[in-house]
Amino acid sequence: AATPAVVTVTGAAGQIGYALLFRIASGQLLGPDTPVRLRLLEIPPAVRAAEGTAMELDDCAFPLLAGIDVLDDARAAFDGVNVALLVGARPRTAGMERGDLLSANGGIFRPQGEAINAGAADDVRVLVVGNPANTNAFIAASHAPDVPADRFTAMTRLDHNRAVAQLAARTGSGVDEIRRLAIWGNHSATQYPDLTHATVRGQAATGLVDHEWVEQTFIPTVAKRGAAIIEARGASSAASAANAAIDHVHTWVHGTPEGDWTSAGVVSHGEYGVPEGLVASFPVTSSGGAWHVVPDLDVDDFSRARIDASVAELVEERESVRSLGLV
Ligand code: NDP
Repeated sequence: AATPAVVTVTGAAGQIGYALLFRIASGQLLGPDTPVRLRLLEIPPAVRAAEGTAMELDDCAFPLLAGIDVLDDARAAFDGVNVALLVGARPRTAGMERGDLLSANGGIFRPQGEAINAGAADDVRVLVVGNPANTNAFIAASHAPDVPADRFTAMTRLDHNRAVAQLAARTGSGVDEIRRLAIWGNHSATQYPDLTHATVRGQAATGLVDHEWVEQTFIPTVAKRGAAIIEARGASSAASAANAAIDHVHTWVHGTPEGDWTSAGVVSHGEYGVPEGLVASFPVTSSGGAWHVVPDLDVDDFSRARIDASVAELVEERESVRSLGLV
């Protein structure tokens, strides 16, 4: 039998964790031929709840699940890890300053970066879901100098999937008929969902929807979808976030289809004027187990301004974590 892959999930007792773990154990993350050994990392007060989730995972009798450990120590949790899903984070609470939020998350993502650096497998892939995801990924990567920077990514796949669903609904097409949408920048309200290169059943999306809808409805609906879900559901999105995390890693490992791309937060090499080293979302393809920023796209003035605004926010977050001594 194949050697199990070690998959570590932080914040495993949270609501995204609960929606994620069963899908990983059933084989949807790495495919039907790869057994997985799960490591559930939690903070001490949540370990008991994670143990309850582990009991339920046992009770599913998943053939691909080779074992589960529940841990509160990052070094143990990331020892030999192949896929690290960093979901647990310090949420922003009422009255919290941005510096406090970044400091609290620095206290989580610095030791996790160090633990990944110390013990991860050579092929480790890291996806940060916990917010502020891009900057948390930047902090973790900064403390893992021996791991190639391109192994640290931040999730914008949920924003991407939301954009696909909105455009499909507007154009009366199936989600599988939409290609080449892109999310640029930060996973925040400044993100830029870009349909200037998108096609719907092979036709340019820009010929099917008007600019007013794009600017007044499409972009804000995608960017504020998380708040709309909290408003409707009384709780933040969880199953759709878990689904996007599965999609992100599955695409990273198995590749993008010919002629299409997706979106992911990856470390910039300076593409499209995004400062080197920032973790920013780009249109990306995946092949050979690695992400590649889609090259040579025309960026019109409207897109340029939106990308620049979101990237400016990432630059500010980087300056804040530097001045707080978190990197
Ligand atoms: P969730 O499982 O709902 O969310 C976890 C993180 O995912 C949050 O930072 C959340 O950000 C983020 N997120 C990113 N994208 C989305 C999205 N589209 N929709 C919703 N959330 C998104 O949080 P819970 O509070 O239920 O659980 C968090 C768990 O993490 C707790 O069990 C806690 O104990 C644990 N934790 C573990 C740590 C560790 O393992 N070291 C450290 C810190 C916490 P946002 O808050 O902005 O919605």
